[in-house]
Amino acid sequence: MKTEILRIDENSLMRAKKIIDGGGLVAFPTETVYGLGANALNQSAVELIFVTKGRPSDNPLIAHVHKDYDISELVTEVPDYAKLLAKAFLPGPLTMVYKSRGVVCPAVSCGLDTLAIRVPSHSGAQAFLKYVGVPIAAPSANISKHVSPVTAQHVYDDLNGKIELILDGGKCSGGIESTVLDCTGEVPCVLRSGLVTRDMVAQVAGECDIYHIVEGQRVRSPGMKYKHYSPRCRTALYSYDDRMKAYDEYREHAARGERVYIMCDDMTAADMADAKILPLGGDENAVASNLYDRLREGERVADIIIAVAPQKQDGVMVGVMNRLTKACG
Ligand code: AMP
Ligand code: MG
Repeated sequence: MKTEILRIDENSLMRAKKIIDGGGLVAFPTETVYGLGANALNQSAVELIFVTKGRPSDNPLIAHVHKDYDISELVTEVPDYAKLLAKAFLPGPLTMVYKSRGVVCPAVSCGLDTLAIRVPSHSGAQAFLKYVGVPIAAPSANISKHVSPVTAQHVYDDLNGKIELILDGGKCSGGIESTVLDCTGEVPCVLRSGLVTRDMVAQVAGECDIYHIVEGQRVRSPGMKYKHYSPRCRTALYSYDDRMKAYDEYREHAARGERVYIMCDDMTAADMADAKILPLGGDENAVASNLYDRLREGERVADIIIAVAPQKQDGVMVGVMNRLTKACG
């Protein structure tokens, strides 16, 4: 199969709709990462996502809808706090989990009685969702366990020959996947951290829990138990306090003639005089935005990436650290 990358316009949207209507897959941009979309009402199309990515069959997908879509068609109970959160943060990088009506096919939620819904703010994603007119089930558009894609070229590198069409909307600005928030309880609960932080949710909803996996208990967000986001080269991860140890390891590898890079923010880079750097930028939003791009660049140019965690560990950094640990830990 030939994989085309097309800018988003009337023609490419028409192509996309034809593919989606025919039960195929289309990669599309969002403000977080690129998604691999299928018609959420078509069981075999959704199953094709799992096959194409090599995704474990118990890791549920998010249903993406246009901003004018009435989600009560898909879910039953929408608590008052969820309405407030939707008003505050949607469209945007916040996925909300509700009790499902069972309208989307069971493969989307992998048999769970809940459904995760997201309203992306990216203009290309909105145009695509409006044009196709159905809820789109979509995980990130990468081979399972690999680094999530933030450009059309990243999608192509993973899925060339496996899908017909990649809609190119430029580089994703957010850079890490959406916050996943369970809205089925009395109080919202963060299942996966992202750009909408726990504090931001708590400010609107009054309170917000954060979920931690407990050994021996069923995982509430199945995706959390899998290895993820890994570049295809060796990696090491140091804390900010151990950054000079990272520098020592860097010099050992360099002395052996290996291709070694340090991935860190600007503050740490300033202490690493002559090291080759994969720069993450100066503040938490830059670090989130650059993380996957630098990991993908790193795997092309390096035998080993030595990552140094930023000093700041709260807010958006909770989500960044979660990815960094899974990628390089
Ligand atoms: P991805 O599509 O790879 O960004 O992953 C989607 C994330 O949403 C995974 O961590 C899933 O476990 C989570 N998710 C999707 N649907 C549900 C659901 N119904 N309940 C809980 N978590 C969900
Ligand atoms: Mg993913």
